[in-house]
Amino acid sequence: MKGYNDRMNGRSITELTALQEQMRHCHLCAKAGYPIVPRAIFSGPVTARIMVVGQAPGGREVERGLPFSGPAGRRLFSWLAQAGFKEDEFRKDQYITAITKCYPGKGKSRGDRVPTAAERELCLPFLAREVELVQPELIIPVGGVAIRHFLGKMKLDDAIGQVYHKDGRSIIPLPHPSGANIWLNRPKSKLLLQQALLLLSDASWQ
Ligand code: SF4
Repeated sequence: MKGYNDRMNGRSITELTALQEQMRHCHLCAKAGYPIVPRAIFSGPVTARIMVVGQAPGGREVERGLPFSGPAGRRLFSWLAQAGFKEDEFRKDQYITAITKCYPGKGKSRGDRVPTAAERELCLPFLAREVELVQPELIIPVGGVAIRHFLGKMKLDDAIGQVYHKDGRSIIPLPHPSGANIWLNRPKSKLLLQQALLLLSDASWQ
Protein backbone atom coordinates (compact mmCIF):
# COMPACT_ATOMS: atom_id res chain seq x y z
CA MET A 1 0.00 0.00 0.00
CA LYS A 2 1.48 3.34 -1.01
CA GLY A 3 1.96 5.95 1.71
CA TYR A 4 0.36 9.41 1.86
CA ASN A 5 3.53 11.17 0.65
CA ASP A 6 3.82 8.80 -2.32
CA ARG A 7 0.23 9.52 -3.24
CA MET A 8 0.83 13.30 -2.97
CA ASN A 9 3.61 13.10 -5.57
CA GLY A 10 2.58 15.53 -8.32
CA ARG A 11 -0.92 15.97 -6.94
CA SER A 12 -2.13 19.41 -5.98
CA ILE A 13 -4.76 19.94 -3.29
CA THR A 14 -4.84 23.62 -4.30
CA GLU A 15 -5.63 22.81 -7.92
CA LEU A 16 -8.30 20.25 -7.01
CA THR A 17 -9.90 22.71 -4.56
CA ALA A 18 -9.92 25.38 -7.30
CA LEU A 19 -11.54 22.92 -9.73
CA GLN A 20 -14.17 21.97 -7.13
CA GLU A 21 -14.99 25.66 -6.57
CA GLN A 22 -15.39 26.05 -10.34
CA MET A 23 -17.75 23.03 -10.46
CA ARG A 24 -19.77 24.34 -7.49
CA HIS A 25 -20.34 27.65 -9.26
CA CYS A 26 -20.93 26.22 -12.74
CA HIS A 27 -24.19 27.20 -14.47
CA LEU A 28 -23.33 26.03 -17.99
CA CYS A 29 -26.26 23.61 -18.28
CA ALA A 30 -28.81 26.00 -16.77
CA LYS A 31 -27.62 28.74 -19.15
CA ALA A 32 -27.99 26.31 -22.07
CA GLY A 33 -31.60 25.73 -20.99
CA TYR A 34 -31.37 22.29 -19.37
CA PRO A 35 -33.68 21.82 -16.34
CA ILE A 36 -30.91 20.78 -13.94
CA VAL A 37 -30.46 21.66 -10.27
CA PRO A 38 -27.19 23.63 -10.46
CA ARG A 39 -25.37 22.11 -7.51
CA ALA A 40 -22.37 19.97 -8.38
CA ILE A 41 -22.06 16.82 -6.24
CA PHE A 42 -18.74 15.00 -5.73
CA SER A 43 -16.53 13.99 -2.81
CA GLY A 44 -13.09 12.73 -1.91
CA PRO A 45 -9.46 13.71 -1.48
CA VAL A 46 -6.75 14.32 -4.07
CA THR A 47 -4.89 11.29 -2.64
CA ALA A 48 -7.65 8.82 -3.62
CA ARG A 49 -6.45 5.61 -5.29
CA ILE A 50 -9.94 4.75 -6.52
CA MET A 51 -12.38 6.96 -8.41
CA VAL A 52 -16.04 5.94 -8.67
CA VAL A 53 -17.83 7.61 -11.60
CA GLY A 54 -21.62 7.47 -11.72
CA GLN A 55 -24.01 8.87 -14.33
CA ALA A 56 -25.29 11.93 -12.44
CA PRO A 57 -26.46 12.64 -8.88
CA GLY A 58 -30.08 12.05 -7.87
CA GLY A 59 -32.47 14.18 -5.80
CA ARG A 60 -31.38 12.61 -2.51
CA GLU A 61 -27.74 13.33 -3.31
CA VAL A 62 -28.59 17.01 -3.86
CA GLU A 63 -30.43 17.19 -0.49
CA ARG A 64 -27.46 15.67 1.30
CA GLY A 65 -24.68 17.14 -0.84
CA LEU A 66 -23.13 13.67 -0.99
CA PRO A 67 -22.75 11.36 -4.01
CA PHE A 68 -24.40 7.93 -3.90
CA SER A 69 -26.24 8.73 -0.65
CA GLY A 70 -29.72 7.62 -1.80
CA PRO A 71 -31.16 4.11 -2.38
CA ALA A 72 -28.78 3.45 -5.32
CA GLY A 73 -25.88 4.42 -3.07
CA ARG A 74 -27.03 2.01 -0.35
CA ARG A 75 -26.99 -0.80 -2.88
CA LEU A 76 -23.63 0.27 -4.33
CA PHE A 77 -22.05 0.36 -0.86
CA SER A 78 -23.52 -3.06 -0.03
CA TRP A 79 -21.71 -4.36 -3.14
CA LEU A 80 -18.49 -2.58 -2.19
CA ALA A 81 -18.78 -4.06 1.32
CA GLN A 82 -18.76 -7.52 -0.31
CA ALA A 83 -15.45 -6.48 -1.94
CA GLY A 84 -14.09 -5.52 1.50
CA PHE A 85 -14.64 -1.74 1.51
CA LYS A 86 -16.31 -0.06 4.50
CA GLU A 87 -18.51 2.86 3.43
CA ASP A 88 -17.16 5.44 5.92
CA GLU A 89 -13.53 4.65 5.09
CA PHE A 90 -14.25 4.49 1.36
CA ARG A 91 -15.95 7.90 1.42
CA LYS A 92 -13.04 9.40 3.40
CA ASP A 93 -10.24 7.90 1.29
CA GLN A 94 -11.62 7.57 -2.26
CA TYR A 95 -13.04 9.97 -4.84
CA ILE A 96 -16.67 9.77 -5.99
CA THR A 97 -17.95 11.79 -8.90
CA ALA A 98 -20.13 11.51 -12.02
CA ILE A 99 -20.24 12.09 -15.76
CA THR A 100 -22.45 15.14 -15.10
CA LYS A 101 -22.19 16.69 -11.65
CA CYS A 102 -25.64 18.26 -11.24
CA TYR A 103 -29.04 16.61 -10.72
CA PRO A 104 -30.75 16.37 -14.15
CA GLY A 105 -34.28 16.29 -12.62
CA LYS A 106 -37.08 13.82 -13.22
CA GLY A 107 -37.49 12.08 -16.56
CA LYS A 108 -40.75 11.76 -18.52
CA SER A 109 -41.35 8.28 -17.14
CA ARG A 110 -40.30 6.88 -13.75
CA GLY A 111 -36.87 7.80 -12.49
CA ASP A 112 -34.41 10.58 -13.18
CA ARG A 113 -33.65 12.07 -16.56
CA VAL A 114 -30.55 10.76 -18.31
CA PRO A 115 -28.28 13.74 -19.13
CA THR A 116 -28.24 14.47 -22.86
CA ALA A 117 -25.09 14.10 -24.97
CA ALA A 118 -24.85 17.92 -25.05
CA GLU A 119 -24.94 18.16 -21.23
CA ARG A 120 -22.34 15.42 -20.98
CA GLU A 121 -20.13 17.31 -23.40
CA LEU A 122 -20.45 20.47 -21.29
CA CYS A 123 -19.51 18.65 -18.09
CA LEU A 124 -16.89 16.12 -19.22
CA PRO A 125 -13.93 18.54 -19.12
CA PHE A 126 -14.46 18.63 -15.32
CA LEU A 127 -14.19 14.83 -15.10
CA ALA A 128 -11.07 14.85 -17.29
CA ARG A 129 -9.47 17.38 -14.92
CA GLU A 130 -10.52 15.39 -11.82
CA VAL A 131 -8.82 12.29 -13.28
CA GLU A 132 -5.76 14.35 -14.20
CA LEU A 133 -5.41 15.79 -10.68
CA VAL A 134 -6.34 12.73 -8.60
CA GLN A 135 -4.55 10.22 -10.86
CA PRO A 136 -6.57 7.24 -9.56
CA GLU A 137 -5.05 3.79 -9.99
CA LEU A 138 -8.52 2.30 -10.42
CA ILE A 139 -11.66 3.78 -11.96
CA ILE A 140 -15.04 2.19 -11.24
CA PRO A 141 -17.55 3.40 -13.84
CA VAL A 142 -21.04 2.73 -12.48
CA GLY A 143 -23.76 2.20 -15.06
CA GLY A 144 -23.98 2.22 -18.85
CA VAL A 145 -23.36 5.95 -19.40
CA ALA A 146 -20.13 5.94 -17.36
CA ILE A 147 -18.99 2.60 -18.83
CA ARG A 148 -19.51 3.92 -22.37
CA HIS A 149 -17.47 7.02 -21.57
CA PHE A 150 -14.43 5.04 -20.43
CA LEU A 151 -14.66 1.90 -22.57
CA GLY A 152 -16.84 2.71 -25.56
CA LYS A 153 -20.18 1.13 -26.41
CA MET A 154 -20.53 -2.41 -25.06
CA LYS A 155 -23.15 -4.69 -23.55
CA LEU A 156 -23.31 -4.93 -19.75
CA ASP A 157 -22.80 -8.69 -20.16
CA ASP A 158 -19.42 -7.99 -21.77
CA ALA A 159 -18.39 -5.15 -19.45
CA ILE A 160 -19.23 -6.50 -15.98
CA GLY A 161 -16.87 -9.00 -14.40
CA GLN A 162 -13.83 -7.79 -16.37
CA VAL A 163 -10.84 -5.64 -15.53
CA TYR A 164 -9.62 -3.31 -18.28
CA HIS A 165 -6.33 -1.44 -18.49
CA LYS A 166 -6.26 1.96 -20.13
CA ASP A 167 -3.93 4.98 -19.88
CA GLY A 168 -1.94 3.29 -17.13
CA ARG A 169 -4.88 2.60 -14.85
CA SER A 170 -7.31 -0.23 -14.21
CA ILE A 171 -11.03 0.01 -14.90
CA ILE A 172 -13.56 -2.33 -13.28
CA PRO A 173 -17.12 -1.48 -14.36
CA LEU A 174 -20.22 -2.04 -12.22
CA PRO A 175 -23.87 -1.94 -13.30
CA HIS A 176 -26.00 0.97 -12.12
CA PRO A 177 -27.50 -0.14 -8.77
CA SER A 178 -30.96 1.26 -9.58
CA GLY A 179 -30.93 1.58 -13.36
CA ALA A 180 -30.05 -2.05 -14.15
CA ASN A 181 -32.77 -3.82 -12.16
CA ILE A 182 -33.94 -6.03 -15.02
CA TRP A 183 -30.36 -6.95 -15.93
CA LEU A 184 -29.47 -7.61 -12.29
CA ASN A 185 -32.36 -10.04 -11.80
CA ARG A 186 -30.85 -12.67 -14.13
CA PRO A 187 -28.76 -15.44 -12.51
CA LYS A 188 -26.02 -14.85 -15.12
CA SER A 189 -25.84 -11.15 -14.16
CA LYS A 190 -25.55 -12.01 -10.47
CA LEU A 191 -22.53 -14.18 -11.31
CA LEU A 192 -20.96 -11.40 -13.41
CA LEU A 193 -21.48 -8.94 -10.56
CA GLN A 194 -19.86 -11.35 -8.10
CA GLN A 195 -16.94 -11.68 -10.50
CA ALA A 196 -16.57 -7.87 -10.62
CA LEU A 197 -16.66 -7.66 -6.81
CA LEU A 198 -14.02 -10.38 -6.61
CA LEU A 199 -11.83 -8.37 -8.97
CA LEU A 200 -12.33 -5.29 -6.78
CA SER A 201 -11.34 -7.21 -3.66
CA ASP A 202 -8.34 -8.74 -5.42
CA ALA A 203 -4.97 -7.02 -5.05
CA SER A 204 -4.20 -7.65 -8.74
CA TRP A 205 -5.46 -4.23 -9.93
CA GLN A 206 -3.18 -2.45 -7.39
S1 SF4 B 1 -23.77 19.35 -14.91
FE1 SF4 B 1 -21.61 20.00 -15.11
S2 SF4 B 1 -21.53 21.44 -16.84
FE2 SF4 B 1 -23.68 21.22 -16.21
S3 SF4 B 1 -24.00 22.92 -14.76
FE3 SF4 B 1 -23.44 21.11 -13.53
S4 SF4 B 1 -21.21 21.24 -13.29
FE4 SF4 B 1 -21.78 22.65 -14.96
